[in-house]
Amino acid sequence: MKVLVLNCGSSSLKYQLIDMTNESVLCKGLVERIGIDGSVLKHEKPGLDGKHIVETPMKDHKDAINHVLSAVVDEKVGAVKDMKEIDAVGHRIVHGGEKFASSAVLTDEVIAAIEGVSDLAPLHNPANLMGVEACKAILPDVVQVAVFDTAFHQTMPEKTFLYGLPYELYTKYGVRRYGFHGTSHMYVTQRAAEMLGKAPEDLRIITCHLGNGASIAAVDHGKCLDTSMGLTPLEGLIMGTRCGDIDPAIIPFVMKKENLDADGVDKLMNKQSGVYGMTGISSDFRDIEDAANNGDKKAINALEAYIQRVKKYIGAYAAEMNGVDAVVFTAGLGENSISMRADICKDMEFLGINIDEEKNNVRGKDTVISTEDSKVKVLLIPTNEELMIARDTVKLAK
Ligand code: AMP
Repeated sequence: MKVLVLNCGSSSLKYQLIDMTNESVLCKGLVERIGIDGSVLKHEKPGLDGKHIVETPMKDHKDAINHVLSAVVDEKVGAVKDMKEIDAVGHRIVHGGEKFASSAVLTDEVIAAIEGVSDLAPLHNPANLMGVEACKAILPDVVQVAVFDTAFHQTMPEKTFLYGLPYELYTKYGVRRYGFHGTSHMYVTQRAAEMLGKAPEDLRIITCHLGNGASIAAVDHGKCLDTSMGLTPLEGLIMGTRCGDIDPAIIPFVMKKENLDADGVDKLMNKQSGVYGMTGISSDFRDIEDAANNGDKKAINALEAYIQRVKKYIGAYAAEMNGVDAVVFTAGLGENSISMRADICKDMEFLGINIDEEKNNVRGKDTVISTEDSKVKVLLIPTNEELMIARDTVKLAK
C-alpha cells in the first residue's frame, strides 16, 4: 500500500509518498509560496542526484498538489508510474478540538467538524483543509484520512486540561488545554518502548519535542497525562519565537504600556519572543549557541532560561506520574544539540537520570544515551510524524 502524506500550511505544503509494505519513503518534497509570487516545488527521491526544482506560478493548493502529483508520477524523478498507485492520502490536521481523540476518515461530516473547531487554530486548520479539499477534487476515489496534532493528548483528564478560569469559558468556547505535537509524542513513545523492549503501558515516559516549536508530554503507561502546550501552541517551554509560560498579567500590562491591541500582543508573544526576543539574534538555536560560545550574555541567559524551563517540566511530570522510567529527546534541537541534552540532564541524578557523555555524542539516530546503571533511561529518537500519519492512514483505509 502506498500512502501520500500531506502537511499543508497557508502558503506551503510538505509531502511524502511512503510505501507501507516496508515503510520506506519513495519520494518527498516541499512547495513554498503557494498563491504568491515565486511559487516553487522542491522534490527529492532516494538515489536522485540533487533536488528536482519546479519554479512556476501556483495560484492555490489545488495547483500545488497537481504539480506535486506530476512530480510523483514523472518518468525521471517520480516514484510511481500512475496516480492510481496512490492508495490513500493522510493529512496532518493541527486542531481536532475535543471531537477527535484519534484519526478519522475525511467524510463531509468530519470536514465540517474540523471547520467547527477552526477558531481554535485559525492559522492552521483552514490551511490544512485547503489541502484536503484540493486533494479530494484531484483524487476523488482515494480515501483521505485526518491525523490530528491534538488527538494523542485527548486522554488528559480534567485535572490537567482545565485552567483556573471561570468554567463557562470552557463550556462556551472550549477554553481548555489541548496540547500539540501529539503525533510526534506518540511516535517517540512507541519507539522508546520498542527500544527498551517493553510495552508503552508498562512505562512512565517524559517526551521532549524540542524544535522551533517545543513541547513536553507526560505519557503515563501509554496515555498522555499532561503536556506543556495548551489552548494554543504558545503555552509551556520557551521556544524559537514564542514566549511559553508567562504571568498572564503581563499581557494587559504590556498592551497598555506599548499601546498594543490584541493582535499586536499576540504577535509579540508568538513571533517576537522566545530566544529570538530574548537575544535579538535569531530564533535558530545554532545561532544562539554560537553567540553564547562567544560570550554573548543575552544568548547565555536565553539558553540557561530555556534549559531551566525544560528541567522544571521534567521535574513536574516526574512528580505527576509518581516517577519516570524514560526521558526521550526529539525534534531539531532534541535530536541534534548534544550540549543541550547534556545541560538539561545535568544535576538530575536525584531523579535517577545519568547520561553517558560518549553515548550522547550523537545526532539524529535512535540511541539510548543514559549510562548502563541509570535508573531512568534517556533516549534520543528522531521523530517521524509522516510515518505515524501514514500508519494511521493505512489502519483507517483498511
Ligand atoms: P524543528 O522545528 O524540529 O525543525 O527544529 C528546528 C530547530 O532545531 C531550529 O531552531 C534549529 O536551530 C534547531 N537545530 C537543528 N539542528 C541543530 C543543532 N545541530 N544544534 C542546535 N540546534 C539545532
